[in-house]
Amino acid sequence: MSLFLDQFTTTLPGMRVRFGAGVRHKVGEEMDTLGLSRALILTTPQQADTGAEFAALLGPRAAGVFPKAAMHTPIAISEEATALALESGADCLLAIGGGSTTGLGKAIALRTDLPQIVIPTTYAGSEATAILGQTENGQKTTITTPKVRPEVILYDAELVRTLPVSMTVTSALNAMAHAAEGLYAQNRSPVSTLMAIEGLRAFHDALPRVLDTPDDLHARGETLYGAWLCGTVLGTVGMALHHKLCHTLGGSFDLPHAETHAIILPHAIAYNETAAARELAPINEIFGGIRPGQALHAFATSMKAPTALRDLGLREADLDRAVDLATRNPYWNPRSVTPTALRRLLQDALEGREP
Ligand code: NAD
Repeated sequence: MSLFLDQFTTTLPGMRVRFGAGVRHKVGEEMDTLGLSRALILTTPQQADTGAEFAALLGPRAAGVFPKAAMHTPIAISEEATALALESGADCLLAIGGGSTTGLGKAIALRTDLPQIVIPTTYAGSEATAILGQTENGQKTTITTPKVRPEVILYDAELVRTLPVSMTVTSALNAMAHAAEGLYAQNRSPVSTLMAIEGLRAFHDALPRVLDTPDDLHARGETLYGAWLCGTVLGTVGMALHHKLCHTLGGSFDLPHAETHAIILPHAIAYNETAAARELAPINEIFGGIRPGQALHAFATSMKAPTALRDLGLREADLDRAVDLATRNPYWNPRSVTPTALRRLLQDALEGREP
């Protein structure tokens, strides 16, 4: 049976995507195609060496390197980088890294309209969305605007080889969460569902091979393919309980982004699996079993993903506040979100129980 729906609307953004081991060397070619001549290179402090390699690769076409990207895109850092972009005469941005670096590129683009070329080195998927989260004084705000959508993405499997195995797993589960929630999104389309299913399949097939042989370029490339598809789903349809809960836990309890997604995913999907049984059925087909939450939990456990929020520093005493914060602003979810059921979900996730 095809995925056709009687009614749907979809906007497919114009975005250029290139895959291939070594494709990062084509960045100059991509700049030429867009008529660009000077790129400000962005990285985190931890990936400053990679930034320097790109500066050497681009030679006079590098307008500078700004190696200060940080988690949750602090506004003060974005403003410092924006000033440098303007001073240096850059006519584009080259972000190399995970969601934090991509976020910095988007924040500068929001302020300057400079085009962005992104070379992702994790599976977070931010490069495929028009969403920007920013923080100031401990408050995280999210905006969605085409102004922050990158123009070009280069997925180079050679650059994810250095991603440590533990981050590889949590980042993959972070990506898979976009696809899993995309399956039951109210505004899903046959195309978003196709992408979600294919993205989940790519991770199911390639992640075990990456863990066996972390520098297997074919398997790494396939996980990047999954990241692109899952990120595109995130950028195309609305998210629900899983993403709202992770947003609360990250924003108010300072829990790390990818690990939190990895732990919550099986629980959020189990919470919704009866209300969205038909929509979530592809998870059973890909991962096996008859309960999608359990199937994802079994997959995560077999990949040695973290399973207990306690291990990230959350305490039992935090749970009531987490429930309060996560139910304060109502949002659509396939099953209504009640404080009692959410408290039970969080207790299970705190202790690392099977959902
Ligand atoms: P990250 O970008 O913060 O990276 C984590 C660490 O890993 C950093 O120190 C980074 O330098 C390092 N790293 C990245 N790639 C590496 C590699 N290949 N080898 C070695 N080290 C590497 O983490 P993330 O999980 O990719 O991104 C999280 C951030 O992205 C959060 O702030 C989240 O809110 C945001 N995000 C935004 C969207 C969106 O659509 N706006 C989507 C997903 C995530």
